[in-house]
Amino acid sequence: MMSRENDVDSGTLYLVPTPIGNLEDITLRALRILQEVDFIAAEDTRHSRKLLTHFSIHPKKLFSYHEHNVRTAGETIVELLRMGHSGALISDAGMPGISDPGFDLITQMIEAKLPYVVLPGPSAVITAIVGSGLSTARFSFHGFLPRDRKNRRETIERLVSRKETLVFYEAPHRIEKLLEDLYEGFGDCPVVIAKELTKRHEQYVRGRLSEHEHLLPEELRRGEMVVLVDVDSQWSNRFPVGQDHIVGRLQLSIVDHVSELMAEGLSKKDAMREVAKARSISRRDVYQMILEDKA
Ligand code: SAM
Repeated sequence: MMSRENDVDSGTLYLVPTPIGNLEDITLRALRILQEVDFIAAEDTRHSRKLLTHFSIHPKKLFSYHEHNVRTAGETIVELLRMGHSGALISDAGMPGISDPGFDLITQMIEAKLPYVVLPGPSAVITAIVGSGLSTARFSFHGFLPRDRKNRRETIERLVSRKETLVFYEAPHRIEKLLEDLYEGFGDCPVVIAKELTKRHEQYVRGRLSEHEHLLPEELRRGEMVVLVDVDSQWSNRFPVGQDHIVGRLQLSIVDHVSELMAEGLSKKDAMREVAKARSISRRDVYQMILEDKA
């Protein structure tokens, strides 16, 4: 039987991480807290209602807490907690407070001397650093760099002397510019792009920043991604240009990629399946490319 020792204390705020892709990545404790609390504050209530319904959780009270209402919604939360109600804060995905609303609320809790509990759980930064193969001994997280190019370059400039793995979040439509700026700032360092973590097409694209223009072919510039750069010179011979298994193959044409896998012993069907998966495209598209190549 599940332990009851951590029963919801009324008046406590819980920060509850939610899956970053795979819905199975929610803890038993997270589900119990979400079921038991008196209110849930969510970054996007429509988005979260789908998740809650999936787990048959029907919140007594659900309201929004997002970057544009942190002050007013924060005050509501403080008031509810003071009245003895317990609550949970969730974001659209992952750990609240990590490039998501949550930080201001924690400072409000500390100032108001109200109790809060943070549940451990999924976060893209932790999953990506471990899966990247880059040093986990020392790493720092920088979230989304400023959008404005001048500010972004200045921020990168300030990181140049670090000796660790740097972790960034970025939206797919800005990835090219980010990689270009990282190359300008750090030079030819090993880089890993961790894509679609915990999802069906999860993939780690490895290479070097000098390859930034070719690292992500058009079809891979979709989905969620974390960018990790190893600026510690002791690892600087990692991922030599053009030798990485994933990147190397993704630079091939689709037809050559299939041929190479067949040369390694895969059947044509399996090779096509692998290529479709690696490039996040349908098997039909791969088949079509092969037909067009023969024509
Ligand atoms: N709070 C979240 C966390 O704990 O990771 C982060 C939210 S932030 C608004 C969204 C960014 O996180 C995305 O743009 C991407 O950089 C990263 N991210 C979230 N889910 C991801 C996934 N499944 N795979 C790769 N990156 C992901």
